[in-house]
Amino acid sequence: MNVLADRLASGTILCAEGYLFECERRGYLQAGAFVPEVVLEHPEVVAQLHRDFVNAGSDVVEAFTYYGHRGKLRVIGKEDVLEPLNRQALEIAGEVARSTGALLAGNLSNTNVFEPTREARAEVRAMFEEQVVWAAEAGVDYVIAETYSWLEEALIALEAIRDAELPAVVTFALHRTGRLRSGETPEEACLRAEAAGADVVGLNCARGPATMLPVLERIRPAVTCFVASLPVPYRTTEEQPTMQSLVDPTRKEQPFPTALDPFACTRYEMADFARAANGLGVAYIGICCGAGPHHVRAVAEALGRKPPASRYSPDMTLHSYLGTDQGISQANREYAGDL
Ligand SMILES: [Zn+2]
Repeated sequence: MNVLADRLASGTILCAEGYLFECERRGYLQAGAFVPEVVLEHPEVVAQLHRDFVNAGSDVVEAFTYYGHRGKLRVIGKEDVLEPLNRQALEIAGEVARSTGALLAGNLSNTNVFEPTREARAEVRAMFEEQVVWAAEAGVDYVIAETYSWLEEALIALEAIRDAELPAVVTFALHRTGRLRSGETPEEACLRAEAAGADVVGLNCARGPATMLPVLERIRPAVTCFVASLPVPYRTTEEQPTMQSLVDPTRKEQPFPTALDPFACTRYEMADFARAANGLGVAYIGICCGAGPHHVRAVAEALGRKPPASRYSPDMTLHSYLGTDQGISQANREYAGDL
């Protein structure tokens, strides 16, 4: 049974992501290597973030195995915790998914060791296979293979997922050239992933809504399967189309990845994005690195949902100065302009 396709056939799926950035901001993950050791060291933090995202409207709990692959663990000299980390991430996510009724997704990411050589292909394939086996054993509904800039690497990930007979979402990270690292246009890459059996294809990470949506306009008519869009919540521009290329005129350090705050999209901008993506026929909508629960709730509400967190959605009518409620004194209302 393909739960992913069934759910998409009955409506949009909202998928909150961005676990690396959010755990880093909360002080439980180191920027740089960006390895999700938090899964083993502070499982309660990961569980809470899963719950925060579902509470805000995410339909999916994505196991936090992003960069939890053999290549990344080798970088920090901890290959020995590869399997415990993956199994624990799946366990934490599975528990939240089961208790909330959300979909459970496994996760594969770019390895950063891929290159178009026979040795690298075999190495990458083995890394994906071991992660997919653990995900399958944990009973995931589907697997997300994401942030690929090499088409071939994405197709190897997809093949590993298909071999395990699991549904797949395959998304590419489109960097500043607007093409994949291997030269394909994003629509060509998506078409290839669809032909290779992906249930959902599209883009995630790197680009903000302003520079991802125009590409989605080209991808949507190029494929027949479901399309995904999970931008980063940052104000990217035509000149600086990715979060990695953003330049802060007031500071000399590179904004990416730890000083992107001045470029953050508001929740209202993310709601606008969700409506625009929905209008383009994008069926799988989410937010990547930088996402906070407030963004996710705004997206959910833009899609016509009322997640539990909507209980606390803003109601400025009751604000002591800016409010319009009968109980707000005229004097305070008049003082509002001096705030
Ligand atoms: Zn991301």
